[in-house]
Amino acid sequence: MEKRIYLDNSATTPVRPEVLEAVYPFLTEHGGNPSSRHKEGRIAKTAFENAREQVAHAINCQTKEIIFTSCATEANNSVLKGYLSGLRGKVVKNHIITTAVEHPSVFATAKALEKDGYEVTFLPVDKFGRIDLELLKSSIKENTGLISVMMVNNETGNIYPVKEIGKIASEKGVLFHIDAVQAIGKVPVDVKEIGCDFLTLTAHKFYGLKGAGVLFVKWGKWTAPFITGGHQEKNRRAGTENVVGVVGLGKAIELAVSEQAEESERLRKLRDHFEKRVLEEIPYTRIVGDPDGRVSFISNISFRFIEGEAILLKLDYEGIAVSTGSACSSGNLEPSHVVTAMKIDPEESHSSIRFSLGRSTTLEDMEYTVEKLKNIIQQLRSFSPVYDKFITQNQKESDRRVQ
Ligand code: PLP
Repeated sequence: MEKRIYLDNSATTPVRPEVLEAVYPFLTEHGGNPSSRHKEGRIAKTAFENAREQVAHAINCQTKEIIFTSCATEANNSVLKGYLSGLRGKVVKNHIITTAVEHPSVFATAKALEKDGYEVTFLPVDKFGRIDLELLKSSIKENTGLISVMMVNNETGNIYPVKEIGKIASEKGVLFHIDAVQAIGKVPVDVKEIGCDFLTLTAHKFYGLKGAGVLFVKWGKWTAPFITGGHQEKNRRAGTENVVGVVGLGKAIELAVSEQAEESERLRKLRDHFEKRVLEEIPYTRIVGDPDGRVSFISNISFRFIEGEAILLKLDYEGIAVSTGSACSSGNLEPSHVVTAMKIDPEESHSSIRFSLGRSTTLEDMEYTVEKLKNIIQQLRSFSPVYDKFITQNQKESDRRVQ
């Protein structure tokens, strides 16, 4: 088989063997519906509820605070839209605060709500992608009802100060939602410690199956259904349960959280070594993101004077899978809203590549990637008129200085 190096773990992760083993009986032997009263149904229900306990244990909440969804996009949409339409018995306020660098499942949903007449504040970020907590605080108004901020950014790996935001939100009596999709298994996620009301996860980012997500809802905060038509998930999210996906999610989260500290450290060493070599051995490169506050599995680097898409295709040809900016905006040659919000020079933002490491990543993979990158960048720059112009100009300036 062709050797492949998969450095796109932020886009999705392969299913790990322990998860496959856990779900196999539910694909073959136990096909019951958890709502059925017979033995087959009871077996499915027991496994499903066991997964709920695994999730509750992983993020430190009660089992009744977990709602299983089809994905994080569903969970994020449900919070933003459901908050406005369905918090029964609460006075729903019409101002939402979020950031300019959220995943599209929050960002585009907030934009759509804005179009519908709701008030939305998109907090700006600096050139490192950081938000200003003072600005967040001063943006809270009488009618602010919800703050939605991600814990880890999917393009840069930036870690956001959710604990501090949780404190501000609770002092001001505002609900707080966190998209923790890229955080779980990479940094500790403890909903009690953070003090949030809603939190979103998705199995396929931590070696579970695609099609299973989680919405944590602090008990008592939300009782209205966000999908109607069935009694499932305590009448909050109707639809026959995805037993296979959820059993896999339970196993995957248990393993991800128990291995988190050690695996994050292992990846930190690989990532730091990789970045050191790239920055030292390939000129005109730069880290995109917050150098002091990033998760260890994401490295977003800009390679000036060339298109990221060209680098991606060349690396793919060499057996290395990476992504340009956000995987979700692939196929679109425009820089993502995240790098745009960071006000990075367009020439630089077009040239950024996200390397996201994972369980299978080895030192050998990273060394191989650096070697291939060195050749690819040199070759692409040799065809680049922008690079040529830059070098010629630099040469002229240095000749002038010598004279
Ligand atoms: N939120 C973040 C931060 C993500 O990175 C992603 C996926 O890329 C999502 C939400 C959406 O997840 P899902 O594919 O489960 O809808």
